[in-house]
Amino acid sequence: MSDGLKIRLDRTLCDGFGICAKHAPQYFSLDDWGYASLIGDGTVPEEDRDAVMRALLDCPVHAIIYMGEHRPAGATAPQHGTEQMPPEPEPKGEDNEAISGFVR
Ligand code: SF4
Repeated sequence: MSDGLKIRLDRTLCDGFGICAKHAPQYFSLDDWGYASLIGDGTVPEEDRDAVMRALLDCPVHAIIYMGEHRPAGATAPQHGTEQMPPEPEPKGEDNEAISGFVR
């Protein structure tokens, strides 16, 4: 279950077009030269998703980066690498000899 999204702003890419601040002024502020800063930590609640996604998609230099869905604290995301994997089957018979012959 998603609770909005998470974004990041790469200020080294920003070219100061100001489009983001027009679409989502509560998330992007512009400095005196028109370069954007992210307001907050990049967490965007579901109700602001459309405005922020529009800013993200309209940024001419792709300085706004989608970091994934934001999940509320305590929600468990699927964990990778913790599943129990069955042991690798041992190669048997001639295969075994062929492998050890190859290694030597
Ligand atoms: S739309 Fe992109 S280039 Fe323009 S101010 Fe925002 S981040 Fe910078």
